[in-house]
Amino acid sequence: MSIKKNTTTAANHITSQVLDNIDSFIYTKDLLGKYTYANQAVLKLFGKKLDEVIGFDDSHFFDLALSTQLKINDHIVMEQGIRVENEESNYIKSINETRIYRVVKKPLLDESGVINGMCGISTDITAEKALQDQVVEQKYLLDSILNNIDAHVYMKDAERTFLYVNTQVAQLFGDKAENIIGKKDMEVLPKEIADHFYQSDSLVFSSNKKQIIEETATDDEGAIHHYISTKIPLLQPGKLPALIGFSSEVTELFELKEKFKQLANTDPLTNLYNRRYFIKEAEKEYQRAKRYSLSMTLISIDIDHFKSINDKLGHPAGDQVLIEVAKQLKVSLRQPDILARIGGEEFSILLPETPKCAAMAFAERIRKEQNDLCITGSWQGTIKLSVSVGVSSFNANDEAFDVLFSRADKALYQAKNSGRNKVSYL
Ligand code: GH3
Ligand code: MG
Ligand code: MG
Repeated sequence: MSIKKNTTTAANHITSQVLDNIDSFIYTKDLLGKYTYANQAVLKLFGKKLDEVIGFDDSHFFDLALSTQLKINDHIVMEQGIRVENEESNYIKSINETRIYRVVKKPLLDESGVINGMCGISTDITAEKALQDQVVEQKYLLDSILNNIDAHVYMKDAERTFLYVNTQVAQLFGDKAENIIGKKDMEVLPKEIADHFYQSDSLVFSSNKKQIIEETATDDEGAIHHYISTKIPLLQPGKLPALIGFSSEVTELFELKEKFKQLANTDPLTNLYNRRYFIKEAEKEYQRAKRYSLSMTLISIDIDHFKSINDKLGHPAGDQVLIEVAKQLKVSLRQPDILARIGGEEFSILLPETPKCAAMAFAERIRKEQNDLCITGSWQGTIKLSVSVGVSSFNANDEAFDVLFSRADKALYQAKNSGRNKVSYL
């Protein structure tokens, strides 16, 4: 009998030690809500001794007006005999603070099974909750940004599985983000496109360096879209290498750039290349001819007595003639030739890899075609015209393109002086 009593006392002692060394708050209350047991953690929290807690209810330790869930939980446990597991936000008087607890509360029964109180374990999760709230807030912020910026943002691993796609990507692929995440690129995209994207992905994985790529894609209606894509490697311990991609559509900007480029290189009246572009391209051809000892010929064309057209029929008629002359020159052109309006009524054609005799035949054809033109317009009758043509071929002694250019000009002057409507070579 005394052995059993000693054993029970020892067990109680151990239990009490365990309960007092646990960080959780452990307590029991009677049906009136008065404490019948509280471990050290509870006493410490309340700033009370055991006899200042036992026999007292929660109104002494909590501001119950600010701790509503506590009252509801205790009520459910003791009135309905139901185990409760949820969260409480309690205002603790001793520290003048609200703390958040994860609580498990159970009814206590007497020997005949009637509820005579409750026991509870509460764990302080205030810091954990704050962290969780912060994570939720940050995720919300990040989601809001990623889904509202004008860019396609995605994350993909080295095995081609999408780890993240924003709304823009989902819309582009025509599916919901949650249906794309977790799938491989070839499961959501046509193989050809998936392989195209994977080419630049592979570059990121093999170099482990950021890549900036210009990409184009054609939509269902055949329109071409231009994108600037930045792909950044992402290495996380214990995970497959991955990348984060940002793709912004730059079609408008691209087209604007192309338009400006074209405007800067084009003569607005005839739509031919202008002098600036011609000289730039001719310099390149000159260098190529020099380096590889290629032939190259330059043709300069000037409309004869053009001033008299202006004088007789007016400037707009002169403009129309320039347009028609340009049109005819364009028709005569071969694919590698570069034609430009150099100034007023002067045009030049550069013939890469073309020796003198072929160029002379070509120049003669141009002279004749222009001479055969009959130009009609808002004026009476037709305008007939002729052109004088100067031809010169590149020779190895030419120090710069300028030398060839001025020789062709001299040849043109010679054609004018010998009666116009002529081709002259120098
Ligand atoms: P030549 O046979 O010696 O070449 O005589 P030309 O009259 O053709 O040459 P000139 O240099 O005396 O005159 C060229 C004229 O071209 C003068 C200028 O007013 C005119 N002109 C230059 N640019 C334009 C243009 O854009 N439109 C029109 N309509 N005329 C232009
Ligand atoms: Mg002239
Ligand atoms: Mg002229």
